Amino acid sequence: MSKNKTYTFAMHGGAGARPGRDYSRVEAHLETLAAEAGQRLASGAAALDVVEFAVVEMERSGLYVAGRGSAPNTAGYVELDASIMDGATQRAGAVASLRDAVQPISVARGVMDGTSHVMLAGAGALSFAREQGFALVENPNDYYTLPAGVEPDDINERMHGTVGAVAVDASGSTAAATSTGGTFAKLEGRVGDTPIIGAGTWADPEIAVSCTGTGEFFIRTAAAVSAANRVRAGQALADALDSVLDDVARLGGDGGIIAVTAAGEKAMRYNSEGMKRASIGDNASLEVKTFE
Ligand code: ASP
Repeated sequence: MSKNKTYTFAMHGGAGARPGRDYSRVEAHLETLAAEAGQRLASGAAALDVVEFAVVEMERSGLYVAGRGSAPNTAGYVELDASIMDGATQRAGAVASLRDAVQPISVARGVMDGTSHVMLAGAGALSFAREQGFALVENPNDYYTLPAGVEPDDINERMHGTVGAVAVDASGSTAAATSTGGTFAKLEGRVGDTPIIGAGTWADPEIAVSCTGTGEFFIRTAAAVSAANRVRAGQALADALDSVLDDVARLGGDGGIIAVTAAGEKAMRYNSEGMKRASIGDNASLEVKTFE
């Protein structure tokens, strides 16, 4: 696959969208963020910095099931999962079952940049975040909020949502980032696909992938790296994502996958009812949608 000098960016706000719910605030937010991400990439920003920026903004907004919009587990407290991967170097960082970080994706990046590890979990992840000076939620009871389009009764169901971003920058480098509060009503200590490199997130020199959906099925299909391998084997990008989603569906799951390639292709596919999503490129206009 040949490199070019263009940029491409795509983001999702989760594939748990339900018809009939109001996602207007989410779509306005996605539009603003995608436009800003496009400007940053056009000005030469690195894909890694831009995907982190987009995910941080979604985590802080309270509009999605990630960061501030996360719901508590069955033990009554929020546990956050996030991961980030740099395609050119295949360096990666992740946090799992992390409590009360304002920007879990930045803590994941801290793991990547500042340690020799890929993933920190639970109490160790929180100690790392505290020691490194990452912002922590001071009063969890006041901080967390119901995300847009989610109703109070939903939190007793296995409803879910996640945020993610993928980019290829002007130098042809790819990056992916994904962050979540996980599925609603999850057991204490449950870890989904989001922080697992190769399941919820993947980036290599040719492609960047971010997944959303019922995470157990994305782990069991190694969804993100399967999409990359299918493209490497010659399958067209959108077909590759659909094939992985078919594998997920065969096991009983649903969700969505977004990906960009170093050649500047982009695909955003889902087999759930909807996926909040936006994309932009220097040769593609800004697109924002939740349903078809
Ligand atoms: N994949 C996430 C998880 O299972 C949830 C989601 O994407 O909506 O934790």
